Amino acid sequence: MDMAQHLSETELSAKILRHAVPKMSELSIPVTPDNYAVWYEYYKGINLDLKRAIDGLLENKVEFTPEICNSLYKNYIQMHYPDIIESVQIETQVLINSLISKIASMSKGTSRFSASLSEFDTALKNNADPALLQRLVDGVTSELDEIIHANSQMDKSLSNMNQEVESLRNEMLELKSEVLTDQLTSLNNRRAFDQEVISHIDSFNHDNFESSLLVVDIDYFKKFNDTHGHLIGDKVLAYVAQALKNGVKGDDFVARYGGEEFVILLPNTNHQDAHKVAENLRRKIANRNLTIGKEKKLPLGNITVSVGVASLRPHDDKDSYFIRADEALYRAKASGRNCVMGEAVVETPI
Ligand code: GH3
Ligand code: MG
Ligand code: MG
Repeated sequence: MDMAQHLSETELSAKILRHAVPKMSELSIPVTPDNYAVWYEYYKGINLDLKRAIDGLLENKVEFTPEICNSLYKNYIQMHYPDIIESVQIETQVLINSLISKIASMSKGTSRFSASLSEFDTALKNNADPALLQRLVDGVTSELDEIIHANSQMDKSLSNMNQEVESLRNEMLELKSEVLTDQLTSLNNRRAFDQEVISHIDSFNHDNFESSLLVVDIDYFKKFNDTHGHLIGDKVLAYVAQALKNGVKGDDFVARYGGEEFVILLPNTNHQDAHKVAENLRRKIANRNLTIGKEKKLPLGNITVSVGVASLRPHDDKDSYFIRADEALYRAKASGRNCVMGEAVVETPI
């Protein structure tokens, strides 16, 4: 289930907490910070790889042994967000411990209370003497007070805990966005791109969804660096990043794939339209005369890019999809650069 929709941060944290802890106890998974991080992500529903892995385990009724829990954590949390883990770990531990001790103290109170009640009931049926009844009534009343007190403590600590979970979540979001952002260009990075492709493939498989992918590579960039220096090269990379970002719609996903290579995922876009988008971007970049310096503007000449376009097909995975776009890029380079190439036509047998 995807819980991230239509809920405030607090509601979402509380909702996840209410689902995750009982489910973990049902599966006899200790509520350690690592395990909690796994189940938190699972109920949030955004980490699709993790979700698929756990759904598979649940479906096959695989026991969540410490080894399995550990490998879920290692493969789907630690690998994705290596920097987050340490900072949230200690706080989560404190949080979970306090929840568990509160729940434990409350259920202890409740079971003592029902024992007193049944004693009271038996005494009534046996016509016990008024002094005994009085003692029992006193006993029950004081236990009731205790439980009411424990409950109000519980309410307080739950609401405190909500705030703590919320601030942890914000911290996590901040760190997560750092982990998914390229420092030089402020675009999404390759890790973010990998996640986005997977969600495109998921939508493609479940809904009537089209997706196209552009791979954009700056032409002769090595030579540019050699001529103008790496620092100016960096500025040009940031400029191209912005030109790409500004040249597409809000739903389109622009990332730096590495070096002087960018990728753009276009949701709900067929091959022909994607080709047009690519051609517009290419033209816009090629037509701009770059200069550097505020007053004495030094000309840098023109930067051009080559673009490969691919559109998602049935049975694609993230690698096959990327490879087709990359092959198209290779053909664009081979045919002289500063141009856009689409996929090779698929031969369909008659
Ligand atoms: P082609 O037209 O075939 O793509 O030629 P190219 O020179 O762009 O490609 P090649 O792969 O030979 O070289 C890529 C160059 O991109 C190497 C490096 O100088 C430059 N580059 C990669 N990352 C960065 C970066 O972060 N900053 C700067 N300034 N340059 C980078
Ligand atoms: Mg290049
Ligand atoms: Mg390259």
